[in-house]
Amino acid sequence: MPDKVQRVKGVNDILPGEAKQWQALEGVVKNVMTRFAFGEIRPPIFEKTELFARGVGEDTDIVSKEMYSFTDMGQSSLTLRPELTAGVVRSYIQNNLQQLSPVQKLWYEGPMFRQERPQKGRYRQFWQFGAEAIGSPNPEQDAEMIALFYAILSELGITESVTLKINSVGDSESRATYRSTLQEYLRPHLSALSETSQRRFETNPLRILDSKAPIDRELVKDAPKIRDCLNAASDAHYKQVLRMLESMEIPYVQDDLLVRGLDYYTHTIFEFTSDALGAQDAICGGGRYNDLVKELGGGDVPAIGWASGIERLLLVVEALKPHVAGSELDLFLIVEDDALRIPALQLIHQWRGAGLSCDMDTLRRSLKSQMREANRQGSKFVAILGAEAFKNGKVLLKDFDSGEQEAVTFNNVVTRIQQDV
Ligand code: AMP
Repeated sequence: MPDKVQRVKGVNDILPGEAKQWQALEGVVKNVMTRFAFGEIRPPIFEKTELFARGVGEDTDIVSKEMYSFTDMGQSSLTLRPELTAGVVRSYIQNNLQQLSPVQKLWYEGPMFRQERPQKGRYRQFWQFGAEAIGSPNPEQDAEMIALFYAILSELGITESVTLKINSVGDSESRATYRSTLQEYLRPHLSALSETSQRRFETNPLRILDSKAPIDRELVKDAPKIRDCLNAASDAHYKQVLRMLESMEIPYVQDDLLVRGLDYYTHTIFEFTSDALGAQDAICGGGRYNDLVKELGGGDVPAIGWASGIERLLLVVEALKPHVAGSELDLFLIVEDDALRIPALQLIHQWRGAGLSCDMDTLRRSLKSQMREANRQGSKFVAILGAEAFKNGKVLLKDFDSGEQEAVTFNNVVTRIQQDV
């Protein structure tokens, strides 16, 4: 016997039972996005590697060690998207979307690819939905973005187990001030820092704040805070965002160690975490990226966005409100006599066309087995097509809940069932 081919490590099959929860979540996302006046965008799954190197940052974990890159037949280096902000911004620039309106509010959903070490809640192909608002520099845009994700959490009924952590990395002037303040504080301890943090000390010292190494965590605990280094404009922006969140009664905690892994952030950054998850507790992350459009060759256009991991969000939903599988099948057609297979197909075709969810046996099984199958699928009704009834243009319709049964003409089946479900 040939070996069975196994799926690639760190990726998942989403099977029909689970897919229902995905569809329910996707329904909520789509609905809330529409209420907030965001339009859907579907950029490609792969892009030129250069886009992520420039757009996400060479020194990030994603670009330095997690990308699925390959060379195609034309010798171009391409990469399966590890995130979608860079792709959305590339698309915004290339399609001149700013000509359509000065603020573009876009949302997306789809699979992302990162070669991380797989564990619960961390996969190599995982799904994200996210939103980007490109065009406004003002704090109300930051507040609207956060309110957007919060509205999705409310709709899912999981706000209670979720914490919004927020911080500001300010504009480039504030970051430069903070960078030297932080370096000054860390310099005497440089040799005690982890190897990665020692390397980042010059290239990207802010990342030392979110290091997972215990020795680094101990050292940064008492480090100067970035919010104390914000210049007046950055400080005012940040404080207004907080005030606006308060006005909408969106609870937050300020997290001075939050810097987020990507290079492109400016001003507001935030993360939503859930206490219903283990180590991988982040369900959404985002922030303002005022320089990215320019860095990718577009105009000087400010923007802000976030992305949320669907698998993780579903783990939270499932932990808090276990899903009860309900059947969606209205009717199972049981065929008593194989000679009636053609009229049976015609009938089921008509009923499906009229909007009923119907199934029938295609294995030509016994009456008893067909009945068992109808039961297994949790069908609300069964219709039995027998030779006698067929002559009179009728089926025997049985309501599985009440146990009632009656002979119903072919044409009345749909109305009879629709009255009931
Ligand atoms: P990031 O793009 O890293 O800010 O991630 C945004 C969100 O995507 C996170 O908060 C997670 O919910 C989700 N996410 C990121 N990486 C993974 C992964 N490897 N597997 C599953 N979900 C992920």
